[in-house]
Amino acid sequence: MIYYETLSKDELKNEIEALENRYNAFKGQKLKLDMTRGKPCSDQLDICMDMLDIPAKDLRRSADGTDCLNYGVLDGLPEAKALFAEMLEVDANEIIIGGNSSLNLMYDTVARAMSLGITGEIPWSKQEKVKFICPSPGYDRHFAICELFGIEMITVDMRQDGPDMDTVEKLVAGDEAIKGIWCVPKYSNPDGITYSDEVVDRFAALRPKAKDFRIFWDNAYCVHHLSDKPDMLKNILTACKKAGNENMVYMFASTSKISFPGAGVAVMASSTGNISSIKKSLTIQTIGHDKINQLRHVKYFRNLEGITLHMKKHAGILKPKFDMVLEILEEELGGKGIASWNKPNGGYFISLNTLDNCAKEVAKLAQEAGVALTKAGATYPYGKDPLDKNIRIAPTMPPVEELKKAIEIFAICIQLVSAKKIME
Ligand code: PLP
Repeated sequence: MIYYETLSKDELKNEIEALENRYNAFKGQKLKLDMTRGKPCSDQLDICMDMLDIPAKDLRRSADGTDCLNYGVLDGLPEAKALFAEMLEVDANEIIIGGNSSLNLMYDTVARAMSLGITGEIPWSKQEKVKFICPSPGYDRHFAICELFGIEMITVDMRQDGPDMDTVEKLVAGDEAIKGIWCVPKYSNPDGITYSDEVVDRFAALRPKAKDFRIFWDNAYCVHHLSDKPDMLKNILTACKKAGNENMVYMFASTSKISFPGAGVAVMASSTGNISSIKKSLTIQTIGHDKINQLRHVKYFRNLEGITLHMKKHAGILKPKFDMVLEILEEELGGKGIASWNKPNGGYFISLNTLDNCAKEVAKLAQEAGVALTKAGATYPYGKDPLDKNIRIAPTMPPVEELKKAIEIFAICIQLVSAKKIME
């Protein structure tokens, strides 16, 4: 193990030469490896295929006799609400079931606030300025929603136990234009960290200047454990109720990475006050979502225990991939003082930080050797990582052998770029 900063110029030159040889050998293979997005691999989709074998006759009627092929049931079948209420630890009357995408629910929630406003306040689009706090690194598609609607994004640092709450508290208390914050509270995208109880309590106790401020609590990875000792996340809605702030949070989740991203069920949860206000406009938007798919999910999983057992099968496929990535990173980069990375207990990503001003160059070099990474900078608002150091690794999709090569090349690129940087 060599700490790069302690190497002499000659030693660094030798190191670069050896790395370049390895890099060129890979480049010569004309590889085409894709680690850009956090999609399940096809083995993961296979384990849920029997859901599609549930006979049509069993999907026609819900428990209360509703004909699922017909119009109606705006906020979801009662048995589907019960299933997702258990998953999100809320009451069934605090749930709205949507279509197949929680991102769609989040987009609609922002769009509704822009055009109609939140509980009697002036619509955001008619207010002079609207700002969101974006704990970063974070999820690029959250940031893209803000960008599309012209919502100014304020970057706040992510720590090992959640966002920097001192800054969040100060910002929301002092600026009426701040209307929201994006949170991925469990196995966050991309850091893989879970907010501590203290952070959840501080969120629940926020005293925002704006009455129409909302926490967008995207619990996309709530049951996506990789370890037998899963992270625990305190329930934000319960905490908000206790703090007298029950209308402050919108929770989101989906089965995209439980069943199928292309044919799952999405859900949002909030106080009954918020839910009834959302339903008033939702009823103009749709007569009801896909009840057949809701019933299919209920018949297949039955309850939270069914979901938990199923998620163990996902972990069985994903854990070896995560372990392999972490092993290669340790082997190639450990102790060299050129990169740091998280070891998540769940979720879909490993977040890696290079030395400052190296991430873009690493991604470019990897691309030239046939390894596509998530665009450097994508984990920050406006695609601009101020220190150009964060790279999101998405190990789920490629087959193990491809992943192994891709990470090895990636690690070589980090070493090469770092060694050259230190030489400068
Ligand atoms: N939220 C987060 C944090 C994600 O990482 C993703 C997908 O990668 C989504 C939401 C997308 O969710 P859905 O498929 O339910 O739209």
